[in-house]
Order: sequence, then structure tokens, then C-alpha cells
Amino acid sequence: MNVLIVYAHPERRSLNGALNDFTVERLRANGHDVQVSDLYAMNWKAPLDATDVRERSTDAPFHAALDSKHAFENGLQSRDIEIEQDKLRWADALILQFPMWWFSMPAIMKGWVERVYAYGFGYGVGEHSDKHWGDRYGEGVMSGKRAMIVVTTGGWESHYGSRGINGPIDDVLFPIQHGVLFYPGFDVLPPFVVYQTSHMDDARMQATRDALGTRLDRLWDDTPIAFRKQNHGDYEIPRLTLRDELAAGRTGFGAHIG
Ligand SMILES: Cc1cc2nc3c(=O)[nH]c(=O)nc-3n(C[C@H](O)[C@H](O)[C@H](O)COP(=O)(O)OP(=O)(O)OC[C@H]3O[C@@H](n4cnc5c(N)ncnc54)[C@H](O)[C@@H]3O)c2cc1C
Repeated sequence: MNVLIVYAHPERRSLNGALNDFTVERLRANGHDVQVSDLYAMNWKAPLDATDVRERSTDAPFHAALDSKHAFENGLQSRDIEIEQDKLRWADALILQFPMWWFSMPAIMKGWVERVYAYGFGYGVGEHSDKHWGDRYGEGVMSGKRAMIVVTTGGWESHYGSRGINGPIDDVLFPIQHGVLFYPGFDVLPPFVVYQTSHMDDARMQATRDALGTRLDRLWDDTPIAFRKQNHGDYEIPRLTLRDELAAGRTGFGAHIG
């Protein structure tokens, strides 16, 4: 199988760097082909802007979505975007690996998502009508591919527990797992989280490697998170609200898991 790792850490000699090296080695040892988009090493351009469109006239105002659509459909996207899209087409599985910064991915990775997920590729896919609100949330270009987050946090596991002050980790990661990954069609595996990174020593590092290795060995066997699909009857369209009889009385992120 083909695995793309999109990796964001500015220092190779870091915990994330060590986990990234381990991940690549383990996947290759398991017979998979691996590509790494090391965003800092690539000097990845994070901001989405008018320079993302080749041969663009400056007469019309730049419109992030419509310019993206035009560039995608007409082969006018910036070359760095096209290269990453080809990696995604090639991949059977995507791993996003990053340190948690301000309750999300580092800005450089957010910029990878914003630019690589073009209109017609990451969104704006399929019929858009009052009966079918696009191929998304369980359908889309990434259908049939798997995805997993590998994230490190300074916060403790209890800080991200069900009553922890940071909010439950599944809620904190929901915009990435449900939004960035499930939206364009990935089957999303439970995240691999390394908490309390300031308390890492050799013994804990070995245990972390062992646990991550097991997850990587099971990349094609583990059960994805049961996010509800948009177009399979759970939601009223076009209101896109969960039907009253499902998860009755429940609100918030958790209601979107069946
Ligand atoms: C801007 C910013 C925002 C942040 N926001 C959040 C947030 O919202 N929520 C949150 O929980 N945390 C937050 N943090 C903390 C951040 O998530 C952690 O600092 C990060 O996850 C640590 O990962 P690292 O790869 O940088 O670790 P490093 O700093 O490289 O290493 C962490 C520890 O692991 C040890 N180590 C490294 N490599 C090895 C190895 N090979 N073997 C054994 N030990 C090793 C190091 O000695 C060190 O003790 C934030 C940090 C920053 C800078």
C-alpha cells in the first residue's frame, strides 16, 4: 500500500522528528511505499493567495474558491499544489503528523490543507442541489482511502479527558478528523496521541514506539471512527441537521458519530 505522511515540525532532532523516522521505517519494513511531505524542509508556502494561480489576470479581484476552481479545472494551479495533489491520488492512506499548537495543527500544515484541497478536489465535488449537498462527509475524492492523525501534546491525558480543562481530545481534534479528513471522503482512524511530552524519557519513548508501531501495523485493520455519512439518510437535506430520531437529545460533536 502507499502511505503519504504530511509532517510539520521545524526541528528534525525533536520528538516529532524521531517519531516520524520511526513511522517511515516501520511502514517500509511492513512492505509499504512511503512518501513524506516534510513541510518545513520543503519550505512550504502556507498562505493561500493569488500567486497560487498561474497566468492569472489581475483585472478581476482574487476569489479564493472561484480562482481555485478555475485553476484546478484548467491546469493552472501552482506546481507545488499539483505535486501534493498527485501524492494524495497515489496514497492509500494519509498520516498527518504534528505537535499540537494552539489546539490545532501548526499554521504551515493548515496552509497545506487550504491550498492542496482545491475546489473540485477537496471540496465542491459532486452534485450540489437541494437533494444532494455535494459528495462530502464520507464521500468525495478521498473515498476508499484511510487517514490517521499522529499528534503530540504538552497537555496531560487528564487535561484532555471527558472533564478536562482543554476539552476532550476527540472534540479538540473534531475539526481536523471530521472536517479536514472525513469531509473529502477519508475513513478516519482513531488518532495516536502522545500526551505530556515534557515527561518523555527513554523508557517512555520505547513504550511510545511500541504503541505507535502496533497502530501502524494495523493501519488497514483498525475500525474507522463511525462518523455519520451526509448522504446516507441520517441528515435532512438541505437543512443538514441530524434527524430528530437519531442520537435523540444529544447535541455537539459526539452526535455525529453513529
Ligand atoms: C506555539 C505552541 C503552541 C502550543 N500549543 C499547545 C496546545 O494547544 N496544547 C498542548 O497540549 N500543547 C501545546 N504546545 C506544546 C506542544 O504540543 C509540545 O511542545 C509538542 O507536542 C512537543 O513535541 P516536540 O516534537 O516539539 O517535542 P520536543 O520538545 O522535541 O521533545 C519533547 C520531549 O521529548 C524528549 N525527546 C525528544 N526526542 C526524543 C527521543 N528520540 N528519545 C527520547 N526522548 C526524546 C525531549 O528530550 C523532550 O523532553 C504548544 C507549543 C507551542 C510551541
